[in-house]
Amino acid sequence: MMRIGNGFDVHAFSGGRKLILCGTEITPCDAGLAGHSDADVAVHALMDAILGALALGDIGMLFPDTDDAFLNADSIVLLKRILALDAVREWKLVNCDLTIIAQKPKLAPFRDAMRRRLADALNIGIDAVSVKFTTTEKLGFAGRGEGIAAAATVLLEK
Ligand code: MG
Repeated sequence: MMRIGNGFDVHAFSGGRKLILCGTEITPCDAGLAGHSDADVAVHALMDAILGALALGDIGMLFPDTDDAFLNADSIVLLKRILALDAVREWKLVNCDLTIIAQKPKLAPFRDAMRRRLADALNIGIDAVSVKFTTTEKLGFAGRGEGIAAAATVLLEK
């Protein structure tokens, strides 16, 4: 049996924070992203895609931003908690495909580090992890450099 899921997330830029995408710190950079956790918008989209594939709700249900336990949480740790759920553990992640939507900074140099970090967290081969980048041609909030969006698709099998 196979299940497909998608996830989407947006975070606004915020000065004085690290920029963490796919569990990878982007340096140098002018600003990180605002958020209760480490604001890793890409991992948030990926987690929602996994939950979505299995109709298990969304990360807001599992890790509410009103809970101080998740303050500045490492999103890779949260991802591993999702993978450890009984309802998720019985599934194999076949592949995932992420798109990070950002006008700035330049992310392409970090692509392989991001793929390696996700592949390790997901316990799958790097060839099954795609990370893509796009701008929005300066249109909208991403194009104005106000924040970063991310979309993710996953395929699960058992
Ligand atoms: Mg988020």
